[in-house]
Amino acid sequence: MNLKKNDTFTVTIEDMSDDGAGIGKLDGYIWFIKDTVIGDRVEAKVMKMKKSYGFARLMKVTAPSPARVEPLCPAARRCGGCQLQAMSYEEQLKFKENKVYNNLIRIGKLEGLRRVVEEETDKGEAEEGELSEDRRAFRPVFLPIIGMENPWRYRNKAQFPFGTDKDGKVVTGFYAGRTHTIIPQEDCLLGVEENRDILKIIRDFMDRFNIRPYDETSCEGLVRHVLIRKGFATGELMVCLVINGSRIPYQEKLVEELQSAGGMTSISLSVNRERTNVIMGKEIIHLFGPGYITDFIGNVKYRISPLSFYQVNPVQTEKLYRTALEYAGLTGNEVVWDLYCGIGTISLFLAQKAKKVYGVEIVPQAVEDARRNAQINGIENAEFFVGKAEEVLPEEYEKNGIYGDVIVVDPPRKGCDEKCLDTIVKMGPERVVYVSCDSATLARDVRFLCDRGYEVRKVRCCDMFFSTVHVETVVLMSKR
Ligand code: SAH
Repeated sequence: MNLKKNDTFTVTIEDMSDDGAGIGKLDGYIWFIKDTVIGDRVEAKVMKMKKSYGFARLMKVTAPSPARVEPLCPAARRCGGCQLQAMSYEEQLKFKENKVYNNLIRIGKLEGLRRVVEEETDKGEAEEGELSEDRRAFRPVFLPIIGMENPWRYRNKAQFPFGTDKDGKVVTGFYAGRTHTIIPQEDCLLGVEENRDILKIIRDFMDRFNIRPYDETSCEGLVRHVLIRKGFATGELMVCLVINGSRIPYQEKLVEELQSAGGMTSISLSVNRERTNVIMGKEIIHLFGPGYITDFIGNVKYRISPLSFYQVNPVQTEKLYRTALEYAGLTGNEVVWDLYCGIGTISLFLAQKAKKVYGVEIVPQAVEDARRNAQINGIENAEFFVGKAEEVLPEEYEKNGIYGDVIVVDPPRKGCDEKCLDTIVKMGPERVVYVSCDSATLARDVRFLCDRGYEVRKVRCCDMFFSTVHVETVVLMSKR
């Protein structure tokens, strides 16, 4: 490759990396170019070169891809939060589906995986009886991705940093990609419209009473971030101001003004005096309301406090977990394990159709939330363990003889620990439902189970994060 730094060249984008950069090839050398779309012909400038690949900056799109659209957000390129905003939603969905499908074929070696369109699904879901007679009917099916009906403004949670511009004025917005420079922008199109009103109230209040934003270099100033959450089903709003102190001057006034935003239910402060990138402090001071907001996913009620984990896209979460529930095939007599259960979202869905659900989660506060969520919903057949899935499952199975008819797993990106998968194989549940946010580790784990007596029946992706490269997948496996 006889190019060097700052040279420009022209290339066609053929693929996309896991973090959303376009990929183009010149004489076998691979270029990563952000802000491009598969099918674009672009002019790019060399930024950095390694032995077999390099990074270049998009200068000009010389021939746009048919998949290219004008990003709605004026800050799309500088922000970096949405890697795929220049791609039409239809293409985004295709891109995500292909990524998962290809990983299952390449890493998972599921050669027989058959893509079907919705109308055909019944054939793929042939009755158990037919399956043994005609092995071809066994071929696992890959169902069409579940896309979002309303891709914009889907996020129920937002965190905005505060800072000052060069004239010393209070600004809020987002950090410019991988830096700590704040770009003023008070309306993220993935977030709710109320964010805008709330930010304006806080900024005006700070201006009026001369309350300074926190400065990361000097560690002086008070207001660091604001966390805003909304219950989509209830309309309830929560504001939590993260401050470098334990009170805000004239806080009664701020509380009063924030209440003018419709639906305001909880206002609090989070104390964070540390020199850290972690946004939230551990101590919460409640200023108004019960300290939490309520929301529903399906018919299950959740109590969300400033520090609790909660899915950011509740609408798609319901669709994803309904798919998992459907795949679990419960009749009311099953004992089910929900490994990596978080605040118990899947467990509480399953509990309504199962005899008993056991949830396992490593974060103690999440388990506390899960237990409380079970309680406020009157669900009595769900029990939760704090611990690692790979430790709790073997212990409960081998020492205490607790079995499972169905095991659901929803691990973090690194997938399941092998010890956990080993125990699943030993336990031998009829069905395993794998919910995944990383198709490479999903494919690896599916291969492991396929080599040990399980086979894949169905795969379905669900898009929870419009405009980003992330995608969720549900896989149904059953005992061969
Ligand atoms: N289904 C959950 C979210 C799962 S996200 C919900 O809706 O709330 C993955 C979860 O796995 C996280 O809550 C994380 O804390 C937990 N986790 C990570 N490693 C784990 C391990 N080794 N054992 C059990 N839980 C783990």
